[in-house]
Amino acid sequence: MDRIANAIGARVAPSSSARSAPVYNPATGEQVAELPLSTAAEVGEAVAAARAAAPAWGATPPLKRARLMFRFKELLDARAADIARAISREHGKTHADALGEVARGIEVVEFACGIPHLLKGEFSRNVGPEVDSYSDRQPLGVVAGITPFNFPAMVPLWMYPVAIACGNTFVLKPSERDPSAPMLVYEIFREAGFPDGVLNIVHGDKEAVDAILDHPDVKAVSFVGSTPIAEYVYARGTAKGKRVQALGGAKNHMIIMPDADIDKAADALMGAGYGSAGERCMAVSVAVPVGEETANRLVETLAPKVRALKIGPSTDPDAEMGPLVTRQHLQKVLGYIDKGIAEGADLVVDGRGFRLQGYENGYFVGGSLFDRVTPDMTIYREEIFGPVLSVVRAGSFGEAVGLVNAHEYGNGSAIFTRDGDAARAFADAIEVGMVGVNVPIPVPVAYHSFGGWKRSLFGDHSIYGPEGVRFYTRLKTVTTRWPGGIREGAVYTFPTMN
Ligand code: NAD
Repeated sequence: MDRIANAIGARVAPSSSARSAPVYNPATGEQVAELPLSTAAEVGEAVAAARAAAPAWGATPPLKRARLMFRFKELLDARAADIARAISREHGKTHADALGEVARGIEVVEFACGIPHLLKGEFSRNVGPEVDSYSDRQPLGVVAGITPFNFPAMVPLWMYPVAIACGNTFVLKPSERDPSAPMLVYEIFREAGFPDGVLNIVHGDKEAVDAILDHPDVKAVSFVGSTPIAEYVYARGTAKGKRVQALGGAKNHMIIMPDADIDKAADALMGAGYGSAGERCMAVSVAVPVGEETANRLVETLAPKVRALKIGPSTDPDAEMGPLVTRQHLQKVLGYIDKGIAEGADLVVDGRGFRLQGYENGYFVGGSLFDRVTPDMTIYREEIFGPVLSVVRAGSFGEAVGLVNAHEYGNGSAIFTRDGDAARAFADAIEVGMVGVNVPIPVPVAYHSFGGWKRSLFGDHSIYGPEGVRFYTRLKTVTTRWPGGIREGAVYTFPTMN
């Protein structure tokens, strides 16, 4: 069984912590690794290694930093299938889905390759008589990232390529559930030739997170995870004077207008609701058909597709959806389905009885579909993070938009329609950070930035893209005036020794 090591400075070595946690293969329920729950002292060592590396790395020309990023990208491309297998083994998602995750992470590395251009500043000549000004963005020093289980390779890659390209050094605390993929990506990062201490990884739980939040040498923290922890990380980190961007949970709605192509909308909902077993922060968990007829057609089209979902381990190339990440999470999702029934929703497809031959100890659940869900129900208000789609019937476009805007989360939302006027009004009025028009999961590409509104993001900056560069740098503006100099005393003839 693998014992997961920390990576601090030049060393990849086991933790000396007395505490540890098991890592499971969710398809079989077998323990595949033991993860150290590192101590605050070990976080201190990682921060010290990052701090020691920061001056030289920050002074390295951006072009040289970019060249290492290019190399990193090439190596990641070559090892994508290995990384995908490492993801699936501990997360459970299908191989194709894991490859997609790796590809989206690599796109951020590609973006970071453009750092010389991204760090170019602004210059104004003659802001006063013979006075010039320029502004540029400089690194913060040591910055840190704390990441969730659902994208163990991609979410760390949302953070450190941008932070490191900007000239910072980094301490990463990955999820406890699936640590092997970020460690493999770390090995590839070192193979690309980045110096010791530029990227450090410390595994752990709350003790390690708190040590990062309290450490005076950590200047900024990026967090992605559930809303209660995001809020906690934001409050504690900012109280200690740090910059914090903390991305939280979601309840993403997709509005289906009466003029939408119902087959296309249903297919989009299948991928967005059940892909990765619903364990995506941009998963669509609420479908909002407008009008009774639209709702009836949608549920009739969806139900057989949900029943026909192909569920299996990541090693099955035909599987469309894998297991949930842990037994506790499986119990939680089953509990939500029970609660939905108890609160009066209509369970059209029940995934609770699903069993997979040969994988009886895996954390599998079938796809579930609820109709006639109402805004007061727990399954509507809370993030389930499983393959459970709720249909909330709306009487009008305005009512549908009102639902999204009244929800505490504001990550993404989509509309399916053929009507440009409705789409435009939707994009204008909807109170979320990422909007899709006939696009169910509108995750911004790497050269835009990712982030929600309301309780889906605490802090001022979205993650990666131009917002990532702003988050990981601070602005300096230099105003210059030079006294009269050599022009007056200049000698225009060729100097001789006479
Ligand atoms: P989580 O909040 O349980 O864990 C995230 C990180 O916080 C982990 O590294 C974990 O070790 C740490 N952590 C957990 N409990 C802590 C505590 N009490 N104190 C300090 N640190 C703690 O989230 P998860 O279950 O790993 O991930 C799923 C959640 O992440 C979902 O809510 C999902 O919506 C969200 N998510 C959001 C985005 C986004 O971009 N907004 C992206 C991916 C996932």
